[in-house]
Amino acid sequence: MGCFVLCSRADPGIITKSNHASLIKIYAYDAVLFRKGIVCPTCNMEKPARSKHCGLCNICVHRFDHHCVWVNNCIGAFNTKYFFLYLFTLTGMAASIALITGAFLLQVVRLSNMMHGSYIDEQGQEQAVDILFLVQHLFLTFPRIVFMLGFVVILTLVLGAYCCFNLYLALTNQTSNEWYKSRRVGCSPHVTAQPQDRRVVYKNIYSNGIWMNLKEIFKPLTVLGKKKRT
Ligand SMILES: [Zn+2]
Ligand SMILES: [Zn+2]
Repeated sequence: MGCFVLCSRADPGIITKSNHASLIKIYAYDAVLFRKGIVCPTCNMEKPARSKHCGLCNICVHRFDHHCVWVNNCIGAFNTKYFFLYLFTLTGMAASIALITGAFLLQVVRLSNMMHGSYIDEQGQEQAVDILFLVQHLFLTFPRIVFMLGFVVILTLVLGAYCCFNLYLALTNQTSNEWYKSRRVGCSPHVTAQPQDRRVVYKNIYSNGIWMNLKEIFKPLTVLGKKKRT
């Protein structure tokens, strides 16, 4: 809940007239996804590289990732860390509820000694208890608990996959916006002044190695920090 509140309340990196001059110096323009001199018609300011205007929040966001409908906020340079913590703790919570519920049902099966029992089927024959019967029996005995277990297992798998995707983005220093755009650029022929049809080869210029990329999520780059590094 703490991570959720932090993520939804934090400033994602709103570009204002006062911080525009410093934010524009942080990232270089790659000339493919981000070109110099493009002005946001709503905010009436030159777009810094890696920024994007969010139509829902009506602001330009520095190192824009995406607009998250779950936290009702943009995810940008300054709150990506909270989004990560929120996502990882949420996945951890879903996984731990699934584990506790699974352990509870297993304990019920173990204590009742159900596995060694038998039942009478529709033909009147005595059958040994198998897994299918056990699942049916548990579902009829604890319908809400078994339903919840199924739900949290699916939730864990979906969130886990999304966590892996976000971890990949963080380690390669890409935002969701750049990942999506770069795939589109890579597939479509780029119209150039040359008569021949050229394909643009997109190269991520923002990656500084796994460790530095991860550090950038938790400690966003500033003009001062960038000067120190170069
Ligand atoms: Zn804007
Ligand atoms: Zn937004």
